[in-house]
Amino acid sequence: MNKQYSLEFFPPRAAEAWPGFEQAVAELRVLKPAYVSVTFGAGGSVQSGTVDAVQRIREQQGLDTAPHLSCVNTTPESVDALLARYREMGVRRLVVLRGDLPSGAGLPAGPFRYASDLVAHIRKTFGDAFHIEVAAYPEMHPQARDPAADLRNFCTKVAAGADAAITQYFYNADAYFDFCERAAAAGCQVPITPGIMPITNRRQLTRFSNVCGAEIPRWIALRLEQYGDDLASIRAFGLDVVSRLCQTLLDGGAPGLHVYTLNKVEPTVDLFARLGIDAGEPQAQAR
Ligand SMILES: Cc1cc2nc3c(=O)[nH]c(=O)nc-3n(C[C@H](O)[C@H](O)[C@H](O)COP(=O)(O)OP(=O)(O)OC[C@H]3O[C@@H](n4cnc5c(N)ncnc54)[C@H](O)[C@@H]3O)c2cc1C
Repeated sequence: MNKQYSLEFFPPRAAEAWPGFEQAVAELRVLKPAYVSVTFGAGGSVQSGTVDAVQRIREQQGLDTAPHLSCVNTTPESVDALLARYREMGVRRLVVLRGDLPSGAGLPAGPFRYASDLVAHIRKTFGDAFHIEVAAYPEMHPQARDPAADLRNFCTKVAAGADAAITQYFYNADAYFDFCERAAAAGCQVPITPGIMPITNRRQLTRFSNVCGAEIPRWIALRLEQYGDDLASIRAFGLDVVSRLCQTLLDGGAPGLHVYTLNKVEPTVDLFARLGIDAGEPQAQAR
């Protein structure tokens, strides 16, 4: 089976950051990703840049682009208007999430409390107009009661109409294989693509991991700590660790990789080069 490689970006916050963003997308285009995705309000950021970023990527780079969409500050009316606009733009793929909750906030108000509510609404309103990706958590979502409940909730999203899933990042391949096996045993037979976070910055990675519940294995944390502010060594070590992880995942049957680029070019280019993914696969057309 052909492997599928996709790349994730976030919309710039400041006007002066757009040229750098566009440049990064243009440079990563040479990897021929099957599609790229654009986050929506991730980490509590503004949501409005997503449409703009999707439009620019499609127009300037002609890449199949999947906007993320979340339940936060979302109503049935706002979703329908946004998706009608995306459909007009030619968007055929979405990544549907509950969303990062603003700090101290409870579950989103309104009818969309969980990602499964939003998936069900989109299927009901737009039928098969969009290919829908949802999130999966090999190491368990940090707010889940237990792994079994989290798996049941994942299967609810699939039953609501998700076509495929992308995982939260992780550095333990066994957690991914275990999750895929449990999902298959529970009858959730959708492709589950590992989300890959390159390691380039210790403090940033620690901050992200504290929020999203992704474990940094002790041996990796210790090695990163030892490198201190020696960024070149951190990057070289990170590339070794992450490329080995990716190879294990691909060899073990993962359908592809979804790289969290953080809008940076080199870590993803270096990773693809190390893995021997020369020019990726031809662009796939979503649904
Ligand atoms: C690939 C990927 C992309 C992301 N992109 C973004 C983005 O663009 N913007 C953003 O804000 N965030 C993004 N996130 C982060 C995501 O929004 C958070 O992890 C969020 O906390 C959970 O989102 P979800 O869609 O997995 O939620 P859900 O699937 O709704 O699950 C959230 C929690 O609720 C539980 N749950 C689900 N359904 C039920 C139910 N019926 N009853 C009780 N409990 C239930 C789950 O077990 C889980 O603990 C992304 C995450 C991933 C993995």
